[in-house]
Amino acid sequence: MDIKQIFTNNQDWISRQLETDKNYFAKLSQGQSPAILYIGCADSRVTAEELMGLQPGEVFVHRNIANMVPNTDLSVMSVINYAVSILKVDHVVVCGHYGCGGIKAAMEQADLGILNPWLRNIRDVYRLHRKELDAIEDEGKRYNRLAELNVQEQCINAIKTAEVQKAVSQRNLTVHGWIFDISTGQLVDLNIDFQKITKDIAEIYRIDPS
Ligand SMILES: [Zn+2]
Repeated sequence: MDIKQIFTNNQDWISRQLETDKNYFAKLSQGQSPAILYIGCADSRVTAEELMGLQPGEVFVHRNIANMVPNTDLSVMSVINYAVSILKVDHVVVCGHYGCGGIKAAMEQADLGILNPWLRNIRDVYRLHRKELDAIEDEGKRYNRLAELNVQEQCINAIKTAEVQKAVSQRNLTVHGWIFDISTGQLVDLNIDFQKITKDIAEIYRIDPS
């Protein structure tokens, strides 16, 4: 790819935006008030705004390898804090995808250096759901199910945080677990019952809002 092409593309995009609305950038620069926080995989095939049909300003985005929400990762924790407490988003979405390289890498024995501790979080998800996963014979299907369960566990990690707990009880913030199917382009809601999960884990993780 000729990297200079990017700047040509950018100029074309500016022209198209201004054709539709000559005040587009003036409005955009006034501030943001997104309704959704999207936490997704860094995979180049799984974009955020494009697959949801949203425009700049409509979604606060965080992406990392395998859409993880590790409890001590300062980056994702800061994103959740800012999006929920300051921007006051109404929805927190964790979106995984089938055919995820991070999920696959976590299930292989190779030493991947700095990726080891990151991927170990996915191995923890496997350990929690080992019985169900080991019963799936087809390797591809097993990885895809792990991708779904990983979404569920990362949503739970988001629910464990004080700011999400506070926003759920005070202003009905909702958490969603989604999967993007690269082979069809379809976004699938995993319909995870977070009310039940929140109730189940409340005793362990509850932080009383002050
Ligand atoms: Zn991925």
